[in-house]
Amino acid sequence: MIKHLVIAGGGTAGWMCAAAFCRLFSKSELKITLIESEEIGSVGVGEATIPHLRYFNEKLGINEHDFMRETNATFKLGIEFADWKQVGHSYIHPFGAFGFETAHAPFYKYWARSQNLGLDIPADQFSIATHMAKLGRFTYPSKDYNQLASTFSYAFHIDASKYALLLRKFCEGQQINFTRVDAKIEAVQTSQTYGGIESITTTQGEKIEGDFFVDCTGFRSLLLGKTLKVNPVDLSKYLPCNSAIAAPSDETHPDMPYSRASAHTAGWQWKIPLRHRTGNGCVYSSEYMSDEQALEHFQKKAEGNLLAEPRIIRFKAQHLEQSWKDNCVAIGLSSGFLEPLESTGIHLIQTAIMKLTELLPSHGNYEVERNEFNMQMKDEYEKIRDFLILHYRITERDDSEFWRYITSMPLPDSLKQRIGLIKEAGVIDTYQHGLFLEASWAYVYFGQGGKAEIDFHETLHLNNEDLKLQISNFKNELSNFGNQAPPQKNLLDSIYSKSAPEHWPSAALSLYGVFS
Ligand code: FAD
Repeated sequence: MIKHLVIAGGGTAGWMCAAAFCRLFSKSELKITLIESEEIGSVGVGEATIPHLRYFNEKLGINEHDFMRETNATFKLGIEFADWKQVGHSYIHPFGAFGFETAHAPFYKYWARSQNLGLDIPADQFSIATHMAKLGRFTYPSKDYNQLASTFSYAFHIDASKYALLLRKFCEGQQINFTRVDAKIEAVQTSQTYGGIESITTTQGEKIEGDFFVDCTGFRSLLLGKTLKVNPVDLSKYLPCNSAIAAPSDETHPDMPYSRASAHTAGWQWKIPLRHRTGNGCVYSSEYMSDEQALEHFQKKAEGNLLAEPRIIRFKAQHLEQSWKDNCVAIGLSSGFLEPLESTGIHLIQTAIMKLTELLPSHGNYEVERNEFNMQMKDEYEKIRDFLILHYRITERDDSEFWRYITSMPLPDSLKQRIGLIKEAGVIDTYQHGLFLEASWAYVYFGQGGKAEIDFHETLHLNNEDLKLQISNFKNELSNFGNQAPPQKNLLDSIYSKSAPEHWPSAALSLYGVFS
């Protein structure tokens, strides 16, 4: 059994990992050491999350309102994508279902047939989350799965550095042998007998030995990349953005329970509204836009007064061939990064931690666990890769070299097949594992103008006129629900003043029977 787990790095990845292990192994004999360098600091971005983070906090036993207050959080119901299909167009990719669960066929097929019949109601209108987002409103989803009000979900915009501090406090409060070392890693020693990592030496001359290591050193990838020489899989031919300019501004947007991603001629710009400030960032491909042009675009788009000098962050769309080699697992940016478009960075950290805690070996030979972990992480990266490329590829834009490259570049076979399947057969294949299920693919594919011009025979139990009428009525019902939800600001004010009930009561909206 592993006796000493050493986590190298204390960004979001390092602290999430430490918190999960401290919780899971509390009162056990496991010793955990986390090494971080305040002098080096963390990457300082990563503020938009997806709903899964709620379950991570729940597993740790962190109260949601405490978490929000500690991280200056606001609610996130989805992402608005502006100017992706064409300049001037926008839609929301909301969290939760597309419509609702129906008996004969998935709801998106009814909707797509109604489109083919000329009913022009955008895809995003079939989520309560979209309606609330647009009106600056928020209520919690119902926990009764027979209610339509259970069909949406939510996440948060957070100050990631404050989340790391919260998790550090959490670790220090657990009954486990946990130590934090503030020092720079100078060298990593490998074992001559069993391969893998034996110890880490700091610049202060301390030698930290361990029997299992987690590399959370960010883009440096000191353990798995640099020391164990695991090669990266380069994805930049599919995802050419490789730079970001980021800085927060002092404006707040309590009427914006969603993030915004606005496409430009060589990438896109983010806007992430926190409780006390707004995160801004311009993501671009340096092949198609200079740093000066990107800075100009960033400054034009960022609203309010900047609270820090804009800084450039370089990255490359890639992931390591293996996230686990010998006795070392890489989690977070040290394992890979695709790009920030759908806020998947923190989720990939969470997924890796959950898989590792499940597979943590209790014997010296890790082969089976390691193979499983590597297979599953590769699958996660590839599915997210395909979903991210979809946003760029389903477009009518051809107004720059960047977009002309995007619309003509070769696609991974898996994505080619997936798009073909939607277009030719009207089928969105459901993953057994991995992020971004049917609803997300439907919202983005159809939201950006993708087509499926077939007759959707499974929906023919409704005649054309009935179908159009029911679809319109259903949309109105969802939009009425959005109108009735309270402003997000009211709920945030009551959470921050500690007067909010644990869960705001959400209105009931019975499931719509006509499609069943
Ligand atoms: P870091 O934050 O870089 O942490 C690395 C740690 O290792 C630090 O503590 C550092 O001090 C330590 N370290 C490094 N070298 C040494 C050394 N020699 N000695 C000692 N310690 C060392 N994800 C999302 O989910 N949502 C988003 O909106 C989002 N936006 C992003 C935008 C951009 C532009 C980028 C690049 C990423 C974004 N991500 C986002 C990803 C997200 O930022 C990361 O997944 C997350 O911050 C985790 O980073 P990390 O902990 O792996 O690395």
